[in-house]
Amino acid sequence: MKLPSLNLQILLAAIIGVLVGMYFHTLGTEHQLVKVGLYTAGLAGTLFIDLLKMILIPLVFCSISVGIANLRAHQQMHRVWVTTLIYFTATMMIAISLGLLAANYFKPGSGLHITMFADAMQGFEAKQLPLPEFFAQFLHGLFMNPFEALAKGNVLAVVMFALILGVALVVGGDRFKHLHRLLQEALDITMLIVRWVMYLAPLGIMALLIRLIAVQDVMMLSMLGKFVAVVVGVTLLHGVVVLPLVLYVVTRKSPWWLFHGSREALLTAFATSSSSATLPVTMRCVTQRLHVKPEIAGFVVPLGATINMDGTALYEAIAALFIANLVGVELSFVQQLIVFLTAMIAAMGAPGIPSAGMVTMVMVLQSVGLPAEAIAILLPIDRLLDTLRTTVNVQGDIVGSLVVQKLTLDAPSKVVVAS
Ligand code: ASP
Repeated sequence: MKLPSLNLQILLAAIIGVLVGMYFHTLGTEHQLVKVGLYTAGLAGTLFIDLLKMILIPLVFCSISVGIANLRAHQQMHRVWVTTLIYFTATMMIAISLGLLAANYFKPGSGLHITMFADAMQGFEAKQLPLPEFFAQFLHGLFMNPFEALAKGNVLAVVMFALILGVALVVGGDRFKHLHRLLQEALDITMLIVRWVMYLAPLGIMALLIRLIAVQDVMMLSMLGKFVAVVVGVTLLHGVVVLPLVLYVVTRKSPWWLFHGSREALLTAFATSSSSATLPVTMRCVTQRLHVKPEIAGFVVPLGATINMDGTALYEAIAALFIANLVGVELSFVQQLIVFLTAMIAAMGAPGIPSAGMVTMVMVLQSVGLPAEAIAILLPIDRLLDTLRTTVNVQGDIVGSLVVQKLTLDAPSKVVVAS
């Protein structure tokens, strides 16, 4: 019997995962079947994430350095840079603006009282994260011994070193052609390993979704109903309308084409809540299904996975206004402008791992004098909300690679292919 395509297998596995998770939820975590099921799902889910993380750092390192080096042939390096940064900034600004508009209109949190959450906040102490310190730490973390960064799995520092190495390969030209070739082969081999890891994706995604849905506290979701509705609504608006529209306007590609081609990555992001862990899958979708040239994908996607986070940015803005409403503080226009800017920095600085946005959220709250302890209210539901925002974070990177390709390499008048 012929198996359905991997893309379809992953979709079916996700649906089964959600259904089984819901069934386990109704049985309760004390049920013997659920205990065994959750243990097995835990093993399979962790194995899948571990395999993705195993290949992540070699992939980031090789794809960025080779991506930059190969851009030499198009003499478009600086145009790709500039377009990528403009795209990242512009789409994050749109996401935050949508979040702020919706939060001002629907006022989530007003009508609730902070005392209702006294239990959740008790004993929770938020780690101080003032903006200047955060910024200094962020800058400091950009550059470090590359061997240490590779060994510790510090994605941002690996990205920065690989960028510099890529530029050095371009500048050095033929002098470093062997190293260039070696890195190219290393990249090809990492992509081959990603292909093998993907055979486990249906099982891994199903296992992760079973666990996620079976153990979540849905009560808390309903208590924060309006806030959750605003976050989900704006996140979907950005992911289903804004990003596909940007793609359509620039490339004339349809939303259906986008979703069909990126389904594996979007489902992996949803199930893992980690843009970094999803990165190998994102690279595969972008280069193999959406036909982005490896030199563009190799630059835009890993960089995007670490700094381009539309879902996180809009979430941080809505959450800040929610907490202001909860404690009865009306934020002025200027204060909302501060929220706008800090939400952007916080999203850029958040690593692509589960709930990273919650940590950098403290900085946004502190910037306008809101109590950082209030994020204790959001923590119990964060794992659920993180699924969607990570999916939109990843989708932003995918759309970014298509947009940047169209505006740079596909712009016919500018292409100069070196001999
Ligand atoms: N989990 C998100 C990501 O990996 C970051 C966040 O917590 O917002 O993209």
